[in-house]
Amino acid sequence: MGKGDSVCKCCGQDMETLEHTFFFCPQAVKTWKIAPIYWEGITECQNNFSNWWHEMRGASNRAEGEKHFSLTVNILWQIWRARNEWVFNSMRVDLQRSIRKALEKWMEVDRQTEDKKRPEQEGMNRSLDQWLLPQEGCIRMNTSVAASKVQ
Ligand SMILES: [Zn+2]
Repeated sequence: MGKGDSVCKCCGQDMETLEHTFFFCPQAVKTWKIAPIYWEGITECQNNFSNWWHEMRGASNRAEGEKHFSLTVNILWQIWRARNEWVFNSMRVDLQRSIRKALEKWMEVDRQTEDKKRPEQEGMNRSLDQWLLPQEGCIRMNTSVAASKVQ
């Protein structure tokens, strides 16, 4: 077994890689299913998190892309948080519920942004970015991910 490799503590079915945690773990799969997000042409990058992230960032220039991007980051964050709750506190987070909540909040923010016609989305992304980065730093194997994100 390689350094830093361990079995996913959420499902016990596979190695806990970034890809597994965020895309392939049954928890994650369920979570993405309820999220109204589909990154066309990017799903096939899911076997390499840093590629996927890169593609997704690139795609956020598409129409509505910024919005989808911030929601996607939010979902990643929720998955990560749920994982930590389980690993460190043995608490099961109802991800489906928290995603639904996040969606409601997201749509609210979206409406407000539309109302004000101000590009607040950008600032939100940045703070979500910063939020996510130190969290990810906790996983040893993702140094390349973090590096590819910093611009
Ligand atoms: Zn798993």
